[in-house]
Amino acid sequence: MSSPDQIQRVIFENANIRSVLAGLQDSYQQVIERQQYPGVIRNILGEMLAAVSLLSATLKFDGRLMLQAQSENQVKVLMAECSHQRDLRAIARFEGDVPEDADFCALLQGGQLVITIEPDKGKRYQGVVPLEGTTLSQCLEAYFSRSEQLPTQIHLVADEQRAAGFLLQVMPAKGDSEEDWQHFSHLGATLSATELLELDNETLLRRLFHEEECRLYDPEPVQFHCDCSHQRTAEVLKYMTQEELEEILREEGIIEVNCQFCNENYKFDQADIAMLFSGTANIEASDQIH
Ligand SMILES: [Zn+2]
Repeated sequence: MSSPDQIQRVIFENANIRSVLAGLQDSYQQVIERQQYPGVIRNILGEMLAAVSLLSATLKFDGRLMLQAQSENQVKVLMAECSHQRDLRAIARFEGDVPEDADFCALLQGGQLVITIEPDKGKRYQGVVPLEGTTLSQCLEAYFSRSEQLPTQIHLVADEQRAAGFLLQVMPAKGDSEEDWQHFSHLGATLSATELLELDNETLLRRLFHEEECRLYDPEPVQFHCDCSHQRTAEVLKYMTQEELEEILREEGIIEVNCQFCNENYKFDQADIAMLFSGTANIEASDQIH
């Protein structure tokens, strides 16, 4: 990676092929330091953060992209997201001892991986990513070739300090040239995890594709940021009834909710809960009048 915590888009001038490079350090550390994660979970979260960073760079609208894996095994939920402002956050929930040598698909056996694209305006899109192969990158490659018909190669790596990703993809709507893709994907496949972590972007591209002309866009910074708020947390409380919440208030005196992504603590008292349901109450009151 070049300077950490940035993504960089790349276009190859003489082929309908694009690339994205992502390198994460502080953003990755800020996500994983919030919980005691076993090594295997920490590395997978690093790969998921690198993956959403890469994929968010291919979107053309404002919104967010999420990867969520769920299973009935010890690993219950793995989730990472990246917004168009390149705000990253991620979380893992698991039980008991997670086997340290398990690969991604083994950890999620019988579960599913879902990719969600949520534009600020417009309809949300969800695709199920088949849990094929062993690694997250293999799952994502299979998803792009099958669901999006876009030949794609993805490399993801994470160690204790850093996470990095490399994406190589045929550009949509330009028509792919099978020959170009064979050539580029063959060269891309030689990329090693160490090269991806250690080399700056220019050196990496030169080493892989030294005969190809490429244009590097300005790098875009990525950062850890959680966009939770008192109001958004209140919206989640609305899944319970006013009676249920008032029951908790009688027992506890206050309702406390911790954001799972950033540990921010939000408190709700009697007045907050009354306010939360006041809209509904008004409608009911006016219904009665008519
Ligand atoms: Zn938060």
